[in-house]
Amino acid sequence: MVTLLSNTDSDFTARFEDFITARRDDDQDVSDVVRAILTDVRTRGDVAVFEYTSRFDKLDLTPETIRVSPEELANAKSHCAPDVLQALKTAAERIDSFHRRHLPEDDNYTDDAGVSLGARWTPVAAAGIYVPGGKAVYPSSVLMNAMPAKCAGVERIVMVVPAPNGDLNPLVLAAAELAGITEIYKIGGAQAIGALAYGTESISPVDVITGPGNAFVAAAKREVFGTVGIDMIAGPSEILVVADGQNNPRWIAMDLLSQAEHDEVAQAILITDDADFARATCDAVEDHLKTLPRADIARKSWNDHGAVIVVETLDQAIPLVNRLAPEHLELAIDAPRDMAAKIPNAGSIFLGRYTPEAIGDYVAGPNHVLPTARSARFSSGLNVLNFMKRNTLIECTRESLAQIGPAAMTLAEEEGLQAHGRSIGIRLNNAPTEGD
Ligand code: NAD
Repeated sequence: MVTLLSNTDSDFTARFEDFITARRDDDQDVSDVVRAILTDVRTRGDVAVFEYTSRFDKLDLTPETIRVSPEELANAKSHCAPDVLQALKTAAERIDSFHRRHLPEDDNYTDDAGVSLGARWTPVAAAGIYVPGGKAVYPSSVLMNAMPAKCAGVERIVMVVPAPNGDLNPLVLAAAELAGITEIYKIGGAQAIGALAYGTESISPVDVITGPGNAFVAAAKREVFGTVGIDMIAGPSEILVVADGQNNPRWIAMDLLSQAEHDEVAQAILITDDADFARATCDAVEDHLKTLPRADIARKSWNDHGAVIVVETLDQAIPLVNRLAPEHLELAIDAPRDMAAKIPNAGSIFLGRYTPEAIGDYVAGPNHVLPTARSARFSSGLNVLNFMKRNTLIECTRESLAQIGPAAMTLAEEEGLQAHGRSIGIRLNNAPTEGD
């Protein structure tokens, strides 16, 4: 039964806090299993990767077959319908143009002391993209991960995707080809993350690993962080819709189900100031469930983790939204930008009555890999910066070193680090030797 809350109830605050802190992720703790797989891949390389792929994906690989061949890649398109390829192209172009705008600018200047300072952005040399492929296929995830890496200027983009029983979805490969990825390996799970992080005989290690995956993939990314960079630990999907009574309840119900159908532990929440609209939306959810192919998943998500919260005024929704910090936030209200301005904690915000969340999953342009589990309080969706790092540059002249050096020497003295202080003093107090 979906959770029903009203902020006029005397126990609202306590129930809301209980709801927020309830654990959704019923995944068993897989960290021991994952650690063992990673250690094995690190020590035995390809052989371990082949064994786990045979066990979990029922696919026997060799050094000759682990990589998708140029022929397999080129043939993939011929197995895809033209309208689907066109849709993929539309998505790729829109994702590319959105992310390209966010390339950061370098900064170089000389300050009043005469010190030249700079901040320079450079791409990582190699990025590994995990594309899930165990139970479903996600060509959209290929583009959402690959396009920002390409925009960032990453030279080597490697994709891993499991091929259960040897089956690789042609659309996933077509998406990779569209994104210009040619280095693709037919492996998944923790063994694929290990291979990307540590390298094997067949796969050179990468610098950053991005992309969603199941509990094994998430735990493996957590483990290898430090050896490589990662984007985030993505949890089950979430949608929060703030809607007034002027909406069509059937539209809003479908928006809620669009995330509930992802996963039984996905979460869909409606906040409204209209109790009649809340009831009508709940009825519409039940009605839609009669015809949705993924009704079993969506129903379990809605009943176990969904919520409808009725507030007296829409303004009262704002602190609740910021507490929930949802992955996706729809504001189906008048003047949605006014409310959006007061909501810093949300992964992606969908404004107005004609912006269903699903448009952002595929073609709007912003990334669909977004912070979940309230991590939108402190993190952002996947973007070009996940594939870049900033180097700082410092250049002193004799004169500018003389200006700022004494302060550094004082601090070095306080910290008891003599060589630090002397490395400055030696330059300030002595005439330069020949060649300086
Ligand atoms: P997956 O590719 O993540 O996992 C498949 C792999 O799991 C297999 O290759 C195998 O190595 C490993 N595995 C399975 N059982 C195992 C076991 N018992 N022990 C060790 N390893 C095991 O594919 P999936 O399972 O379909 O999961 C995909 C996930 O990605 C879903 O949770 C989905 O919701 C999520 N997803 C999220 C987004 C997003 O943007 N947030 C997008 C797409 C998919």
